[in-house]
Amino acid sequence: MKDKQEYKNSFKAPEFLAFDRLIKDNQWLIKIRFFYTLFVSVFFIILNLANETDTVKIRDLSLLLGLMVIGNILFNVTLKKVIRKKLENLDYNSLQSLATVQIDFDFVLLSIIVFISGGVNSPVMILYIFYIMISTFIVTHDKAIRNTTIAIILVSAIFFIDSSFVIKHRLPVMISYDIILLLAFFISSHLSMNLRENREILQELLKKTRDLSIRDGLTGLLNQTHFFEMLEEHLKKARRYNEVFSVLLFDIDNFKNYNDNNGHINGSGVIRRIGHIVTDTFRTFDISARYGGDEYVIFLPNTDKIGSFLAGDRLRERVEKSKFPGMEKQPKGSITISMGISSFPEDGDTREEVLNMADKALYYSKENGRNRVTLFKRDILTGEE
Ligand code: GH3
Ligand code: MG
Repeated sequence: MKDKQEYKNSFKAPEFLAFDRLIKDNQWLIKIRFFYTLFVSVFFIILNLANETDTVKIRDLSLLLGLMVIGNILFNVTLKKVIRKKLENLDYNSLQSLATVQIDFDFVLLSIIVFISGGVNSPVMILYIFYIMISTFIVTHDKAIRNTTIAIILVSAIFFIDSSFVIKHRLPVMISYDIILLLAFFISSHLSMNLRENREILQELLKKTRDLSIRDGLTGLLNQTHFFEMLEEHLKKARRYNEVFSVLLFDIDNFKNYNDNNGHINGSGVIRRIGHIVTDTFRTFDISARYGGDEYVIFLPNTDKIGSFLAGDRLRERVEKSKFPGMEKQPKGSITISMGISSFPEDGDTREEVLNMADKALYYSKENGRNRVTLFKRDILTGEE
């Protein structure tokens, strides 16, 4: 189980906000169902007292209310399970289907209440309107249409089955009931669609804003600030589970020279291209960032020194072999990079230490001819290629 801080951090992402929204809707359904159970009991008890006959038998009512409460408690337990699971993955589908099951459960219960309290003459028949309205807001549009259709068919069936009604009177009342239900659906689904659209726009905006705040505009890689945050989170995790990781720091060689000869626009083009080469070279679990100016940093989870050397050297070679405009004016006739690698826990215990050691190894690469990868060693810095 992740700790509280990580839980809070994960909430920054818009997809977590959307998930939260679904959970809140679900919690609301559970709360309203307890209230509804209370309302139905009080309503029928008062009705029984007022009529001096049992509109609904107390035995039937107690059974029904017991079923409602048990169902609701089960929904609550399931929802709590989903919330707990949220810490590991966002399971939208299980939340959505939980809401669908709840709404179907409510429909069956309401139909039983209507049947035992007098069918067509049931004083709670009107509650189908609430059922339709809640459906349009909680489940998907298609399911809301399905629910409305079932409600209309059922209400019509109740009218037909009921023999106390003369057919002449039955039809107009049934049709007006159906029209009221249809109207409830159209008004409510119109409102809920607007709401859904607004939510989607908000999510899109949040995603864009978040991307802008965590990414570097030129390369699309993470920016330094966000990289630091991620590194801290991963470091805590690595400490807790005794995992290793490596940090790979590299810098473009003689980049001032490139800028002087080819201009800053071309220079920025090189920085962007190298960003793309980094993205292509590393796995999706690796985290790459622009560290500043012409410096980049890559975090390789669960990767030791050997593994990270192989990956780092592959990148070095790819950059060296890539064609850039004006590269022939560079000292080696091509764009090259110098790299330093350090690993946790071998070379440092804090993110500053680990980064510092990678920086020392990078410095060694620069001092020893550039276009090379150096693995940090504690006592002596050993250049390897
Ligand atoms: P070294 O091999 O020692 O790294 O030499 P260098 O010339 O690359 O020196 P250094 O890394 O210190 O210089 C980085 C240069 O990168 C300085 C700056 O003008 C340039 N630079 C940093 N950011 C950008 C950018 O976004 N666009 C462009 N065109 N140039 C940049
Ligand atoms: Mg440089």
